[in-house]
Amino acid sequence: MTEEERRELIRKKRRREAILRKRKIRRMKRIAFFSGCALLAVLIIILVVTLTKKDESSVKQTEASESVLSELSSEDGTEASTDTGKDTASMSSDEGEVENTVSQDEVAADLSGLTADQQSVYAQAQRLAAMYDYDSAISLLQSQDGYDGISVYTEAVSDYEAEKAACVAVDVETVSHIFFHSLLNDDRGFDPEVSGDFVAQDNGCWMCSVDEFNTILQQMYDHGCVLVRLRDLVVQTTDEDGDVHFEKNTSLMLPEGKQAVVLSEDDLSYYHAYDNQGIASKLVFDENGEVKCEYINEAGETLVGDYDMVPLLNAFIDEHPDFSYHNAHAIIALTGYNGVFGYRTDSVYKTLDPDHLDENQAVWLEAHPEYSFEQDVADATEIANALKEEGWEFASHTWGHRHADTTSVEDLAVDNEKWVNTVENIVGPVDTIIFAHGSDIAGDEDYDMDNAKYAYFKESGYNFFCNVDGTTPVWMQIRDDYVRSGRVNIDGYRLYQAMTGNESAVADMEYLGIHDIESFFDYARVTPVVIPE
Ligand SMILES: [Zn+2]
Repeated sequence: MTEEERRELIRKKRRREAILRKRKIRRMKRIAFFSGCALLAVLIIILVVTLTKKDESSVKQTEASESVLSELSSEDGTEASTDTGKDTASMSSDEGEVENTVSQDEVAADLSGLTADQQSVYAQAQRLAAMYDYDSAISLLQSQDGYDGISVYTEAVSDYEAEKAACVAVDVETVSHIFFHSLLNDDRGFDPEVSGDFVAQDNGCWMCSVDEFNTILQQMYDHGCVLVRLRDLVVQTTDEDGDVHFEKNTSLMLPEGKQAVVLSEDDLSYYHAYDNQGIASKLVFDENGEVKCEYINEAGETLVGDYDMVPLLNAFIDEHPDFSYHNAHAIIALTGYNGVFGYRTDSVYKTLDPDHLDENQAVWLEAHPEYSFEQDVADATEIANALKEEGWEFASHTWGHRHADTTSVEDLAVDNEKWVNTVENIVGPVDTIIFAHGSDIAGDEDYDMDNAKYAYFKESGYNFFCNVDGTTPVWMQIRDDYVRSGRVNIDGYRLYQAMTGNESAVADMEYLGIHDIESFFDYARVTPVVIPE
């Protein structure tokens, strides 16, 4: 076995272990959740019984509650009866305390009739249902051996059916598409003394800090936002000629009051130009096989953890699966010129072509004699595969971060071929292009095949096109042959605008439930926040 194969094996093993560990954690969460529900039901029954017996003596009250609990526990074949007296006693003196004393035994009892495998399946079903994928949750449980005899399963299925029936169709033309760049973990990137005036001002405009991102995510979640994929907004069909057609999806179903949102992240390459700005430097697998960030802190220590959007959003969705529709995460828009995810995968790192190797790249190569092009491509591919499994998608951001509006179609074609050769080989085929600099290949008017740039991209396999338009919370064109989405930038510039009363910025934030910006805005930025010249 070669060294490479051995490492591959170890990596696979770690990932498998991590998946198992994750499942276990999720299972525990489900059990905790179920225990809460069971406890609540018991509590309500006890309360009802207590209230109806209010006129009787306190001794009788205790007996009555005990008998209810005993019935409940014997029905389930559990062994809660020994704890019942204590629970009921504490209940008669303090309703609040009961909640803590009854719960664990009740729940453990409810799932204890299930084997470990059955509990694992149940946990999977609960997660699917939390992500509004009721059909998958139902069919998963119904496909299990002995389904009809497993009351936990049959009851869960009727719950899922009721929840599904209560969902309403999302008006896809009300769905906002927002995006972030890489996040700052410390103040270096905002500090002109460290990063220089231009870069500090630039970061102040287009970047958010990790704390800002976390607060915004939580506020959006509290507002009822749910992440969906851009492709969830449409129904895509392919005709006999192989041409694709789109129409609005009229059956994207979410519970009433939820607000669908598409999320993307631009420039996840960890460019050389980001060095020493408090931004992560690489996506890596941690010892559990989970995708995390490598980050070099101000003291020069290399840390691995939740230092950017990928691991932060993964963790948030693990904790709040109802923030994601069918496990949607976000679209990652990638250039190629410095590689992807912090891996130096562009061909220039291999060819060392002096006409194309820039100074940053030469300096980096000099500092990394251990670098292997093939290894970086292999490692980046593993990261991409793991992200796809997690529900992330990829898009082209053009290879060279080009201005699609002012670049000729010939140059855009050369650029796209470079992207295909140096990025698509890692992330796989994509049908989405998120133009760099917020540019676009047309104005508000529809694309058509007379537009040479559109014709080129369309013929190259792109169907979803994104620009930046913060002037309105939602901008979209769903046409027979393409989908076009205007994105709202959530960054220092826009936050500052909203804070200082810019009407469209205020409207964008209100639409997403982002509020009290002054309470979390990172004032390490140079203010006022203005676009550097
Ligand atoms: Zn960009």
